[in-house]
Amino acid sequence: MLVHAGTHPSGAFRFNGQNYVPIADWARANGLRCAWLKRGDEMVATNRTARLVFGVDSHYVEINGIQVALSFPIANQQGVVLVAQFDLDAAIRPLMFPSRYARPGAVKTICLDPGHGGRDTGNRVGWHYEKLYTLALAAELRDQLRQAGFNVILTRTKDTYVELPDRPALANQRSADLFVSLHFNATEEARGEVEGPETYCITPVGASSTNARGEGSDHGPTPANRDEDESLLFAYQIQKSLVGNLDAEDRGVRRARFAVLRDARMPAILIEGGYMTNPYEGKQIYSAAYRRQMAQAIVKGILAYQKLTLSPPPVLPAVNHHPGKSGGGPSVKKSSGRGE
Ligand SMILES: [Zn+2]
Repeated sequence: MLVHAGTHPSGAFRFNGQNYVPIADWARANGLRCAWLKRGDEMVATNRTARLVFGVDSHYVEINGIQVALSFPIANQQGVVLVAQFDLDAAIRPLMFPSRYARPGAVKTICLDPGHGGRDTGNRVGWHYEKLYTLALAAELRDQLRQAGFNVILTRTKDTYVELPDRPALANQRSADLFVSLHFNATEEARGEVEGPETYCITPVGASSTNARGEGSDHGPTPANRDEDESLLFAYQIQKSLVGNLDAEDRGVRRARFAVLRDARMPAILIEGGYMTNPYEGKQIYSAAYRRQMAQAIVKGILAYQKLTLSPPPVLPAVNHHPGKSGGGPSVKKSSGRGE
C-alpha cells in the first residue's frame, strides 16, 4: 500500500519498500515540462531533446520512442503519478544525462559473442538453428566493424561449443572495450504477434530482472554492475538503432543477469535480434541481406555510443544549473547525445 510520508517536504511516498517520487516534481526539478497524455493513465515529460512517457502500472518508461525497463512499476496515488527513486537513479538519469555517466575513453576493441554453438543449438524453429544465424551475424558484423576501424575478437568463429563463463572471460583477458552477445529469440505463444529486437544489460543490484527466468532481487553485485550505467547507455543506443534502422517493433531495453553479461568488466549487452518464431521476422533473420542491415544498425549504435564516450567531461554543476546546458566543450554538440 502507498503511504504518504507527510513529513517529507517534497512529498515522498513508500510503495513496496521503495521510495517513490511524483513525476511532476522530478520533471520540474530537472527542467522538463510535464503533462497528462491520458488523464490518470499516462504522463509525458519533455525538454528540448527528450520526451519521456510514463504509463501507470507500466514496468517500462518510453524515452525518445524506446521502451526502457524499470525495476519497479509506475504508480498512481490519488491522481499523483509516481516513479521509484531507484529507477530514476538506475534507469532514467543515465539516459537523460549520458555525458555524466559515459566514461571517457576511445572504443578500440570489441568482443563479439555469437550465442550458442556446437551441441548447444539455441532455439530451433523447424530446421533453423539459432547457433548458425548468430554466427553468420557475428561474421557480418565483424567485417563491418573492421571496416569502420575497430579491432574485433570473437568468442567463436566456428560451430563449436563454448562454455558461458569463457565468453566474457575472453573479453576480459583481451581487454575489450565492449562486449556484444548475439542471439535470436523464440516464443511458444502468440508466434504471429511477438516480434522485434530486445537489448539486455545487467540488472541493477537490488532489482529483479526483466526476463521471465529472473533470479529475484536478492542477488548481490556482479562484476558487471561496476559498468551498469555505461552498459545501459550502450544497450539503449543499440536498441534505438536497431528499431530505427530496421523499422522493427521495439521490445525494449531490458535487464538480466545473464551468465555472459555478469562477469564482463566492460560495457556489455546481449542482443536478441528478433523472433525466429514470427513467420515474417523469421524469414528476415534467415536472409543474409537482412542480417547485413542488422549488422549496419549495430555498427551505427556502437558509433553513437562511442560519440558519448568522446564527449568532454561535464563541468561541475553551477547553482541553478540547467541540465540542458551541461558541458561547455567548444566542439562537441552535446545536445545530440542526450537520451538519443
Ligand atoms: Zn540464444
